[in-house]
Formats: sequence, C-alpha cells, structure tokens
Amino acid sequence: MAIPKNQVDRAWREDGAHEAILAGRREKRTLEVRLARQFLAVERSAHFVYESCVSVAEYGARFGYSPQEAKALASVGAVLEAMPDLEAALLDGRLTFDAVDVVSKILLHPAFTGVRGNWLKLAEGGDLRSLRTAVRKALAEEEAKQALVPKTIYMTPEGEQTFFEARCKAIRFVGHSMSEGETVEFLSQKWLDGDGDGEPKPGKRRLPPTKAGDSRYVPAEVKRQVRARTHGKCAVWGCWRRAFTQLAHLFPHQDGGNQEAENTALLCPRHHALYDKGLLIIEGTAENPIFKDVKGNLLPGGPGSTGGTGPPGDG
Ligand SMILES: [Zn+2]
Repeated sequence: MAIPKNQVDRAWREDGAHEAILAGRREKRTLEVRLARQFLAVERSAHFVYESCVSVAEYGARFGYSPQEAKALASVGAVLEAMPDLEAALLDGRLTFDAVDVVSKILLHPAFTGVRGNWLKLAEGGDLRSLRTAVRKALAEEEAKQALVPKTIYMTPEGEQTFFEARCKAIRFVGHSMSEGETVEFLSQKWLDGDGDGEPKPGKRRLPPTKAGDSRYVPAEVKRQVRARTHGKCAVWGCWRRAFTQLAHLFPHQDGGNQEAENTALLCPRHHALYDKGLLIIEGTAENPIFKDVKGNLLPGGPGSTGGTGPPGDG
C-alpha cells in the first residue's frame, strides 16, 4: 500500500531523514574508498594468512564483513591503485562502488587496457546484471579466445564446497589458476581419462634419495606419501584446512634437512607461516608429530585429548 506523498514529505521534514541521506552519500563513499585501499593492502601483503584465513574473503568474514563485501573492497582497491582518477567519479557517485567491482577484472586485465573507457561508460550507465554478464563473457572469451557456450548450473551447498576443494586441488595440480568453467572441463577430462581421484598413484620414484644431496626438489612420491598421511589435510591437530596446503621441513633444508617424507609435514598456509616464524613448534616425528605453542604448551586436539578439535588454527 502506497503512503500518500504528503505524509512522506512530512516524515522527511520531521526527522530530517532526507537531509541526512543526502549528506551521508559522500561520507559513505569516502569510507568505501578508504576501506577498499585497506582491503587491498591486506590482500597484497597476504596478511590474511596471519589471521588464519586462506583468502581476503575469509578474512573479511572473520571480521564482520561478508566474503563478497571483502572481495569487492579488495577489487575496487586494486582498480583505484591502477586508475587513481576514478576516485573522483566514485566519490561523486557517477560510478557506483558495485559497478566498479563488477568491471574490476576487465579494468585490471592487460588485454583490455585499450578499451577501458568503453567499459567505464558501460559501468556508469548500465544495470549491474547485464554489466556482470558482459564482463563474464568478455573475460571468458578472452581467456579461451574462442566462442564459449554459456551454461548455468545449480548445486547444493555441499556440492559447491566439494567443487571448491576439487578446484583448489586441480589448480595446484596444473600450477596456474583456472576459471570455474575451465575447472569443470579439466575435471571432466580427468574423469574420462580414468584418473578420477586426481591423487598421484603410489609408484616407483624416479629420483634418488635426497638425504645426502643438496636438491631443493621434493620428489613426487614423497609429496604423495606426506599428503596421504593426513589425507591432504593440514597436519596440525584440530586444523581441517585442505586448501593451499604446503610441505614444511621439520629440520630446515639449509641446516642439512632432507626432502624425505620423514622430514616433511603438510601444513596449511596459516600454520606454515606460524611455523616459519617460530610461533608453532613441531616435535616428535613426521609420522607422529607433537605440536606446541611458542611457550611450549601442547596445542589442543592432540591424540588422547578430550576436547578442542574445534576450528582451525588459532594456536
Ligand atoms: Zn593448519
């Protein structure tokens, strides 16, 4: 039911809402621009790793921003860094924050440098939905350099999580980033090739033992053994992270530590960073590691412990 216009006018006059909304515009945008730069700084420095997060999105979520908000802020920050002139347009509202977020990938993509102006014009006028579609299509075509078939899929939240983990694993495997579409193609091909589990098979190693040598290279069979030990999960007690795990040496390489499974543990970025800084102590053996904090206290969630297998890594 519509409110008669004269009543609306009265409400505005009475509580000053209209004035406040008008006055707040610039303040809101100024704040967004400032946050955008700060989120970019967090992303650039990978500071989120020290907050036990694997991405700036997760970092945002931890501190009361939605993952989308955090990602958008970092993207707009990157655009502002590359194109400082845009700040004025953002502040006076010619460009909305959301529109800049949507076109950010294009504006930052080297292949589109020459046509940035066209995209900005589109961002100023167009509605977000069609802008988003145009951006997605342009990026995908640029990447594939061929016409793509659009495809919309629906997934359960569990399926999406599974896909996310599979995608992380696939990206690690190929060694470069892939779009979601590329990931689906890659995984489908793998499945058809009869390599559905994606995990390297136990096999003969091709490299000699690294004990005496000075190679920094970790043999594939060692990687497989270390990953199998924790089923691809960070080895630290109570930590469930699987994405972007890294191999850490218990006895440092420069001090003569070897590249064998017995000297190697699988750690998430957060725990690897803590370990490298000496804030996480690993004792015992690689097979049965003991994790302590910097004061020498056992981390919760270890074998035989009753509680504390809670979320990750705040040791
Ligand atoms: Zn961890």
